[in-house]
Amino acid sequence: MTANAAVRRTVRASDLSDRELKARRLSMQFSASDAREILNHAIAEEFSGRIALVSSFGAESAALLHLVADVDPATPVIFLDTGKHFAQTLSYRKKLAKRLGLRDVRDINPDAAALTARDPDGELWKQDADACCTLRKVEPLVHALDGFDAWITGRKQFHGGGRANLPAFEASGAHIKVNPLIRWTKSDIDAYAAANSLEAHPLVDQGYPSIGCWPCTHPATGNDIRAGRWRGAAKTECGIHNASA
Ligand code: SF4
Repeated sequence: MTANAAVRRTVRASDLSDRELKARRLSMQFSASDAREILNHAIAEEFSGRIALVSSFGAESAALLHLVADVDPATPVIFLDTGKHFAQTLSYRKKLAKRLGLRDVRDINPDAAALTARDPDGELWKQDADACCTLRKVEPLVHALDGFDAWITGRKQFHGGGRANLPAFEASGAHIKVNPLIRWTKSDIDAYAAANSLEAHPLVDQGYPSIGCWPCTHPATGNDIRAGRWRGAAKTECGIHNASA
């Protein structure tokens, strides 16, 4: 390496935060590891006592919840209860948590005063879905993650879009996000669920491949698993992964 190249590399590294450097190191260290190895390291070692799983208890959630419960059923699980979930999601959340023995599922609600001020009639989603997601998901998650160093997500590369090149560990604001399922396919999820007798979300059988709030979720067919979310709008993410939570 020439002296100039060495200096350039030093300057580039110095531009990265300690958190970004750590995320890159962990992603390289676990580049060939499976989901269980990544979770074991993240929950039991690297971020022990300082990590939570964020789960929507949606169509693909059971496998990751099962894996986390296997490592440590006391791992905090954050469920953003937006007030707009399908009744089936709320009952599935209760049933699955009980079946898996998860001991610390936290139902996180939007701030009541903020709801009154910014969405008094509960119809903000019709006028401004981004503002609604900020109020009902992004802001509550920021508060719920206070005190944690890391959080686990269920995002997968096969979902495409901004998820296509996800690393296993990524720096995000004050946290590191752990993405143990990045290389899983739809077949992997189905096979894992079948092997462990995991009950599917009841709406999967009704044609919903991805499930969020009822006003913004529709049945869908085809390869784009998230096609039924915010149907007809440019929006593809709720914002919790865009924000620097
Ligand atoms: S998904 Fe829809 S209803 Fe749920 S918070 Fe976002 S805009 Fe509001």
